[in-house]
Amino acid sequence: MTEKIKKLTIRKVSNDRAKKKIRDESKLGFGKYFSDHMFLMNYSIKDGWHKPRIEPYHNLMLDPASMVLHYGQEVFEGMKAYKWGDGSIYLFRAKDNLIRLNRSALKMCIPEINVEEVYEYLKKLIALDKRWVPKSKGTSLYIRPNIIATDPYLGVRASETYLFYIITGPVGPYYPEGFNPIKIYVSTEYVRAVRGGVGEAKTMANYAASLYGQMEAKKLGFTQVLWLDAIERKYVEEVGTMNIFFVVDEEIYTAPLSGTILPGITRDSVIRICRDWGIKVNETALSIEEIVSWSQSGKLKEVFGSGTAAVISPVGLISYKGKEYQIGDGKTGNLSSKIYEYLTGIQYGKVKDPYGWMDKVV
Ligand SMILES: *Cc1c(COP(=O)(O)O)cnc(C)c1O
Repeated sequence: MTEKIKKLTIRKVSNDRAKKKIRDESKLGFGKYFSDHMFLMNYSIKDGWHKPRIEPYHNLMLDPASMVLHYGQEVFEGMKAYKWGDGSIYLFRAKDNLIRLNRSALKMCIPEINVEEVYEYLKKLIALDKRWVPKSKGTSLYIRPNIIATDPYLGVRASETYLFYIITGPVGPYYPEGFNPIKIYVSTEYVRAVRGGVGEAKTMANYAASLYGQMEAKKLGFTQVLWLDAIERKYVEEVGTMNIFFVVDEEIYTAPLSGTILPGITRDSVIRICRDWGIKVNETALSIEEIVSWSQSGKLKEVFGSGTAAVISPVGLISYKGKEYQIGDGKTGNLSSKIYEYLTGIQYGKVKDPYGWMDKVV
């Protein structure tokens, strides 16, 4: 490999081509707007990952036979950068996201990236587009790395060429009306992922597979599906794009990382914070029947989801086999609020970060 193709090149957008920023940050929503630049690099067997570059945001040119478009060989990530009160910009655990990208890649037969190198490229991209990091409460810059298989070939096998790219864009608070509990629907008919499958990889197939069950839940008036394990249809796994936690008396329960759920970085953060607060966290298979009985006996105090988009999402009601179970008084629980305030406090630089999770970009 020559030095030349390993060195980052930067082509900036010209002033007259730069996009108009969204002035009213309360209208950002999620995933609708994109910054001026993107990062790209290519993979071939001969050159490995090469030609890292930052360019103006643009459409991709893909051969219609590109393997990703037919067989879904792809992995992605999702993380955020935050603007602090003094105008500086910080990433939250973004290196952990790149490490997870590699773990997903391994599962999908995609070649690994060099985490340290890509992390430096990512910081350059964000520094260049720093005007795109919004500053109002609850807003951030969402970052979406993606690796796609690009061989123009219709046989089923792993591709020999890939494109890695990162796009970013400003996103609003996940809850426009505040931090309100959601209603979730336990699907007994549809499943998301099965042991031995690709449920633990952040790969497009898992999201396509979840759409039908999600649509049915929406029709019935619920925000999200709570997935059960695909074999016994008994153990709770996760909710939409979130991991799930149950507060039972003074302890916390969450599904173990046994291959079918996404190893969430927010999940890991919540577990570490709670353990440091002296709360017992059990990572154990938990049956929906047990949760229902805890709900009936009043032992189930709070339920909440965790993920990058919403950080913490309180659950007010669970519907299972035609019956509805209210969680606590149906309002956001004390512990859910406390974790939310503390974790977002770290992310926005309002609370001291004892974990070294925040890394300054610029
Ligand atoms: C991304 C994701 C999560 C949450 O992971 P974080 O790292 O906390 O954002 C949980 N479940 C699924 C299915 C996901 O795709």
